[in-house]
Amino acid sequence: MKIKVWGVRGSIPTPGESTLRYGGNTPCVEIVVPEDPESNRRDILIFDGGSGVRPLGNQIMKSYPEEIRVDIHLFFTHVHWDHIQGLPFFVPLFRNNTMIHFYGPDAEKLEETLRLQMYPDMFPVTLDDVISHIEFHSYTKTPRKIGPIEVVHQYVHHGTPGKVAGLKAEFEGRTFVYIPDVEPYDYHPEDDPPYDADQPGEQALIEFLDDSDFVILDTMFTNENYEQFRGWGHSPAEYAVDVSAKARVKKLGLFHYSPNCCDEKVEEIEKEMKELGSSLGLKVFGTREGMIIDLEEDPC
Ligand SMILES: [Zn+2]
Ligand SMILES: [Zn+2]
Repeated sequence: MKIKVWGVRGSIPTPGESTLRYGGNTPCVEIVVPEDPESNRRDILIFDGGSGVRPLGNQIMKSYPEEIRVDIHLFFTHVHWDHIQGLPFFVPLFRNNTMIHFYGPDAEKLEETLRLQMYPDMFPVTLDDVISHIEFHSYTKTPRKIGPIEVVHQYVHHGTPGKVAGLKAEFEGRTFVYIPDVEPYDYHPEDDPPYDADQPGEQALIEFLDDSDFVILDTMFTNENYEQFRGWGHSPAEYAVDVSAKARVKKLGLFHYSPNCCDEKVEEIEKEMKELGSSLGLKVFGTREGMIIDLEEDPC
């Protein structure tokens, strides 16, 4: 299974010189569905529609002539702006021979929010003007099958009134988990240990991550600044490393970087987390825009 990273930044796109190396687009990852070159149909599997979904859409337009039917499956973890803001610029909305399935914790709310984002006062084109066929789906307990890949979800703690999902893709015994926005329940960096891993919510998260080949987790803060941002819905990187190690994850990708962190700062956090991870038997690296992670290989 291969994962292509299109956007790694939290909260708001941060273009410019200081974010060139890790990237400034907001969350979007593609789970590359194995292709049958003989078929005149393609499945595209995407987690989140942050600003990174715009270049992904452009690539889809370039890759497939319109005789090829394209089925796009876009799973949203939640509808915070940084996870939906790329959608109005996702050109496959205006492609013939295209079906787009939107999945979220609540189909009705998801549709309402996406329509509002493209309401005429906010954006000149509405969802009624799109050319592709679109459908909205709520998450269910039954796994969704996209080609040979199965997707399941679990709700996580992000401190918002609406539900926020973590997503898991499974293919031929390999597992990828994507949780871009999550906060520990009760975390105090100065305590030892800083959180109670037996707390039911923490335990549920560790079980969801259990034994995964590759996990992308929220690492917006660090132990150093977490107290200042407690309750903002995000994790210190040290927590992400610790829960991943407890869940015996093989590789952890740092993600949802603070818009205030320049490349040098992210690099420093990456270096520290690699060291912390290796002391706990976990491989850690900082995800970068454009990176392709092959679950069969070692990107560390
Ligand atoms: Zn976010
Ligand atoms: Zn969020």
